[in-house]
Amino acid sequence: MYDVVVIGARCAGSPTAMLFARRGYRVLLLEKARFPQDTLSSHYIHQPGVALLDSWGLLDDLREAGCRPIDHQSYEAPGVRIEGFSLPVDGHRTTYAPRRFVLDPILASGAVAAGVDFQEGCLVNDLIQEDGRVVGVRYTTPGGSTTTEQAHLVVGADGMRSLVARKVGARNVIEHPRLTCTYYSYWADLPSHFELYERPGRWVGVIPTNDDLTLVMAYFPQDEFARVRIAVEPAFEEAIRSTSPELYERLAAGKRAEQMYGTGHQENFFRKATGPGWALVGDAAHHKDSITARGISDAFRQAQSLTERIGDRLHDEAELATALRNYEYDLDKDFLDAYRGALNVAELKPDQKTGMLSKLVGHQDLIDRYLSTLSGACSLDDFYNDDLLAVLDQS
Ligand SMILES: Cc1cc2nc3c(=O)[nH]c(=O)nc-3n(C[C@H](O)[C@H](O)[C@H](O)COP(=O)(O)OP(=O)(O)OC[C@H]3O[C@@H](n4cnc5c(N)ncnc54)[C@H](O)[C@@H]3O)c2cc1C
Repeated sequence: MYDVVVIGARCAGSPTAMLFARRGYRVLLLEKARFPQDTLSSHYIHQPGVALLDSWGLLDDLREAGCRPIDHQSYEAPGVRIEGFSLPVDGHRTTYAPRRFVLDPILASGAVAAGVDFQEGCLVNDLIQEDGRVVGVRYTTPGGSTTTEQAHLVVGADGMRSLVARKVGARNVIEHPRLTCTYYSYWADLPSHFELYERPGRWVGVIPTNDDLTLVMAYFPQDEFARVRIAVEPAFEEAIRSTSPELYERLAAGKRAEQMYGTGHQENFFRKATGPGWALVGDAAHHKDSITARGISDAFRQAQSLTERIGDRLHDEAELATALRNYEYDLDKDFLDAYRGALNVAELKPDQKTGMLSKLVGHQDLIDRYLSTLSGACSLDDFYNDDLLAVLDQS
């Protein structure tokens, strides 16, 4: 019998398994994919995520994997251009945007090094429940046979369409309609930094990644998804040309290296995240529009929070129940603002903020603090301080 079975071995699952194993627990990590395998995602890891990777001892592996360091950001919308970078978190200002077939195996290797029993190519089909408590999992092995494992806690790190959530009937406690859809690809020979461009109804991101490639992505309103998905390339070109003609010229001089990828499944929800014998982390617990690029860092933080809250209390039922309630409290406390922020950005209405941002030009400290609200290095309360109000009053 395992202490913990974790389902899903990417940004949420591998760190959760690793951190439980480092506390001395016997952990099984089940993943239906075989790594390295790509997944739909751009790759930007904000400062809080980089700081956690370092605290876990995994940042050097990421740096050695050849991902271009990022330490400069620009944002441009009609009437405003700002440049700067988020404040550091625990001394980390430089960020990275690794391909997922680079990042996810590093996370899984960290789990294995901590003693986790990692089994790839294993599809979990069901949970075993007794007297209203989850007590194990049933899964198909790579050889095609069905097997079961018992565990004191089953963690669903199995993404937005979580099987664990479905099987325990975890309802959405907060939900909002989809707001955007997005498409992206990779360019070679493209001089770039971390660049964001916006106009009403369009958002374009430029993110340097591994192998000297640059990811370029465009966001559209959700109600354009039916039109965009059947003619992705012309829609993408129009989005770039009409949002940043200068970037459009640069792309024309570079070389597209891969196909287009994209999705309209930009769900926005918080689920009931814990119950007797089970917990959800990462996208399984809480999903938001990808436009603010917070999912990876937030999954790391949730792995840290769940494992810290449980600590050495896994086998005491009353204490475990309290720890799980505290973890849910952390989810609300730590991620509700970022969730609201993502919904706000995903409305694709730059006019709501460009007036304020244009007044920050010339005040580099305030620009960096604003960018820090997007990274999670600074709270909105800290941003809306007296210095900001004085600048807004003057202009
Ligand atoms: C277009 C797009 C762009 C994005 N850009 C960014 C970005 O720049 N920065 C950022 O921070 N976030 C970004 N995100 C969000 C980020 O990708 C997710 O938040 C993150 O991947 C969540 O990690 P996770 O481990 O919770 O889930 P996932 O990455 O979805 O991993 C879940 C894993 O569970 C496995 N699994 C599922 N069901 C089973 C089962 N039954 N049995 C066994 N295994 C199972 C899956 O195979 C998968 O490997 C983006 C997302 C999208 C869609």
